[in-house]
Parts: sequence; structure tokens; C-alpha cells
Amino acid sequence: MSNRPVILTYHSQNILGDHAPVNDHQSLARDLEAIHGSGRRFISLARLIDRLDEGSDLQDLRGCVCLTLDDGCNFDVHDIEWPGAGLQRSMLGILRDFSERHGAEAQPGLHATSFVIASPQARELIDRGSLLGRGWMGDDWWAAAEADDRMTIASHGWDHLHPDLGGSGCFGTVDDWSQCETQVIRSARYIERRTGKWPDLFAYPFGTSSNYIREEFFPRFRSEHRCRAAVGTDAGTVRPDTDRWNLPRLVCGRDWRSTRELLQLIESL
Ligand SMILES: [Zn+2]
Repeated sequence: MSNRPVILTYHSQNILGDHAPVNDHQSLARDLEAIHGSGRRFISLARLIDRLDEGSDLQDLRGCVCLTLDDGCNFDVHDIEWPGAGLQRSMLGILRDFSERHGAEAQPGLHATSFVIASPQARELIDRGSLLGRGWMGDDWWAAAEADDRMTIASHGWDHLHPDLGGSGCFGTVDDWSQCETQVIRSARYIERRTGKWPDLFAYPFGTSSNYIREEFFPRFRSEHRCRAAVGTDAGTVRPDTDRWNLPRLVCGRDWRSTRELLQLIESL
């Protein structure tokens, strides 16, 4: 058992029923309690990157857990009724409920980084193709979420190369300057206009990335993209020498399907 920091990923649109493991809202609520009960500590992903920047050996972050949300659906921050599955408490609401239940001082670092898709047109097409076409991928909540100390808005690319747009469904094809410029810099520009803050964390859509974006674009053009780190979805813990342009993450539903599995997984890494 290493107890090195881990980054967990949830998708607020994963609502296939009213219970875990097919409902990431239920999973998050239960996982928060289990992680807290196991004596672990929540910190923001930004805090973890701060420590990497400082050259820390991360010993002071043993047992720490960072929370991230992918795709930026309205369910991240709004309580919404899902047909057949009832009212879904938002992911941000679940963090607030936890703090109210235990007191804010119980987990002062409780926080989620929400990776949103920038392009309004892409969000509209994904909303129609993969959700129910109810306008659940808006950007009118980004500024308030960014202003909330429990959430940060970060970039999940310009259009996710999503199959609903006729895209490849593989972000590994983003392997030259022009495509990286669109996916990383153009998306950051759009997000900054909506939130007032340049997003400095990036999540690879589908968790996949090209050698070019990891080894050339991100490390060599830092003044252009102004990103501090990028996360993928390789399972693992974060070490001082982990590639900051492909930080590992554990994905709810793929890597664990119950709180018991999650705790066993974290223990085993
Ligand atoms: Zn995604």
C-alpha cells in the first residue's frame, strides 16, 4: 500500500438508474463518506499540482484524494430530474451536503475540478446525440462554479472529437500544432471569456493522448497554452516523477463499482 495521492473521475451524466453503480451521483455521495471514514483527506487537483511545482516528494499528501468531473453537464451543479430516475442531487450539492453533515472543518479541502467542453455547437450536438436534448450542456453555470471555492472549471478540449459530431472518438489523433491549438488554447480562450479565469488544467477526452501533445506541445509551449498539468485515465497513483502531462486517474464505473471496491483499489495501488 503506497498511500500516494489519487485522482478520481466521475461523470454526472451517468444516470442509468437511481442507485450506484449505474448512477455516479449515488456513487459520489457514498464514496465521500467511505473515503472520509477511512481517514483520507480531500484536496483540490490544483493543490496537488502546486506541490508538484514546489518539487515536493508528496509525503505530506499521503492518503490524499482529488475529485474530478468530466464533460461538464449541468448535473455537475444543478439538481435536475432525470426521467425515470428521479431528482438528481448535483455533484456540487453532494459536496455541500457532506460539509453540512460533517462540518466544513472535517474536510476543508473538499473540492471538485469540472472539465468542460468549450465549443457551444459541440455541446449542443452531444446534448442531442448522447443526452436527451434538453439543453443539459450549458455554460451559464461556469462562472458561478468557478467562483465557488468547492469547484474549479478546467478544459476538456474544444469539441471532445465526439462521435456525435462525426469525430474520431479518439483524442490520440490530436497530434500537430494546429489541432492542439484548437483543442487546448482556443478552448481556454472561450472558457476564460465565460468564467473570467484562464483554465490551467486539461483533461484528455477519452483519456487518450498523442505523443506530440504529451511530449512536444504541452512541455515546449507553456507560455502559449499556460496549462500546469494534463490528466488522462491510466489507472494509478501520483508520484513526484509522474508525467505531469499525463497524470493518472481512476474512473468511477470502470475502475470501481462500489465503495468497497474503491477502498480496496486505493489500498492496492
Ligand atoms: Zn469526456
